[in-house]
Amino acid sequence: MRSAPEKAGLYIHVPFCRRKCPYCHFASAPPREGDWETWREGIEREAALRSRPEIEFETLYFGGGTPSLLDPADISGLIAALGRRLRLRIAEFTLEANPAAGTDDATLARWAGVGVTRLSVGVQSFDDATLAVLGRDYAAADALSFLSRARRAGFEAIGIDLMAGVPGESRASLRRTLEAVERAGPDHVSVYLLENVEGLPFEAVLAENPVDDDAAASAFEYLAAGLGSLGLARYEISNFARPGFECRHNLKYWRGEPFLGLGPSAGSRIGAERWTNAAGLAAWSQALATGADPRAEGVVLDPERNFREAIVAGLRLVAGIDLAEFQRRFGVDVGARFEREIAELWSDGLITLEGGILRIPEDRLLVSNRVMAAFV
Ligand code: SF4
Repeated sequence: MRSAPEKAGLYIHVPFCRRKCPYCHFASAPPREGDWETWREGIEREAALRSRPEIEFETLYFGGGTPSLLDPADISGLIAALGRRLRLRIAEFTLEANPAAGTDDATLARWAGVGVTRLSVGVQSFDDATLAVLGRDYAAADALSFLSRARRAGFEAIGIDLMAGVPGESRASLRRTLEAVERAGPDHVSVYLLENVEGLPFEAVLAENPVDDDAAASAFEYLAAGLGSLGLARYEISNFARPGFECRHNLKYWRGEPFLGLGPSAGSRIGAERWTNAAGLAAWSQALATGADPRAEGVVLDPERNFREAIVAGLRLVAGIDLAEFQRRFGVDVGARFEREIAELWSDGLITLEGGILRIPEDRLLVSNRVMAAFV
């Protein structure tokens, strides 16, 4: 008898943006002539290289970069090509979109028509001054209009990304953002803290207008509380959703389930194997064109590191870790194995263990480094 296929997530990295935002550290750049074709050929080659009949992909996520630069016809062509190499049975298909990309109503409807179920829109803020500081080339009103047109196009879910810890942000600017979120009515919101990455143009902005960690954390928690009062419940450190609208694809990362990433800089986890692709389009595509492996780094985790990693990822979830299920999957009794660590963290109010569920209290998630360090 054939065993049931293992369910996995498939991530496709689109490494192109119309222009580079000054704070962005993702593998993305404006495409040069021929780059789209190079990328497309590379994705097909990599899919053939990673073809595994025992794995069935049930979620698909086009991230970037700006995947919304792709025409719907290109997306359906690419999915058809992937389907010849990988076993696809897609229940959730997310496309990241930029509200400045000049997308018309017909394109929005055609994305829904080629199977996109979730549109994830990189709004960052609904405050014009904050958008200007971030160097985004649209106004809050443009983002609102994009979201209402996307809603009419018929996606099953609409998500937005927001940012906290931006120079110049204030309670008033954050309140404006929350008011606009209420008007837009997204099903899912991700909130990220702005990172200061060495060597990026934004380093100079932050040097002139530093944001201290406490102020950034307080801005984050202000947004988190506001989203909660709008019915968007936190389910992971940075993610909020209306009930039933959690991102299935991203849940795989936190639940220790397998995922395959195709494209420059994409990461993968299959079984105990983890790897990350070369970040540059040229290095990644040339490796694939010459039959070489496009990975920049990879590791096969021993069982101990594998389950420790799964604990750290699982504790990011508000629901925490079901220890009985964890023992079934990894053969480890976490309560017994980490009895001393759990007792210490519990006495400091940093963790709870009730009804067989180990979790970090929601108001301590953002300062969870000490908890995570105990299990690494
Ligand atoms: S649009 Fe997104 S991926 Fe592209 S440069 Fe800006 S932040 Fe980076």
